[in-house]
Amino acid sequence: MAMSRTELAAMPSTIHTKSKPMLAPIEILGFGKETSPLPPGVALAHSPKIDGQQTLVTTKPFRKGETVFAFTGPIIGKGTIYSFQFAPGIHIDPINPDRINQETGEPERTAGHWLNHSCAPSTRVEQEIIEINGGRIPIIKVTALEDLNPGTELSADYAGMEEDAVITGLECLCGSGAACRKIITGWTGLSDEQKGGLISRGIAAEYLIEMDEEKRAKRG
Ligand SMILES: [Zn+2]
Repeated sequence: MAMSRTELAAMPSTIHTKSKPMLAPIEILGFGKETSPLPPGVALAHSPKIDGQQTLVTTKPFRKGETVFAFTGPIIGKGTIYSFQFAPGIHIDPINPDRINQETGEPERTAGHWLNHSCAPSTRVEQEIIEINGGRIPIIKVTALEDLNPGTELSADYAGMEEDAVITGLECLCGSGAACRKIITGWTGLSDEQKGGLISRGIAAEYLIEMDEEKRAKRG
């Protein structure tokens, strides 16, 4: 199931996200021919932890709370290993359909494609609807959890972003020591205590918290 941007703009606001005016200084990756795959201050590097895997690193400092990058992309109904969940049944593919890669003939990937998982992440992932030229666009915002020096690996905790991560069950190789949960899961794979830990660190998506609240309310 793919939803066009026009259908999306007409979508009822049952999705629990804040609608905000566009943040002018931030380029929205994946939107229009002129946007680049990688934002300023971010580069691709070889993962220091997983052989053959690429990862995102900072090339300039980012302050705590600063948006490192934001992106949109085609809406898909089922998650992939690269997509970002926006709400129940709504996922964003981090590609730019307006830019075709000359080598592959496929739409160009955008930064989100290379954002790896960590149980002790350097960024938080937020879901927002913004307004551009009267249209409503869902974006994923990747924000620094702490002050980041140049050369910091960008990572996010998949369990705080995805209801059910596609790679659930794989051994976690994030290398964050005692903080590592050892196995990759989505939100539904966490214990109540683990969920509480993510909520208190501010890395649990609002739609996931609201989903649990609705479940509890239904149970009475
Ligand atoms: Zn881990």
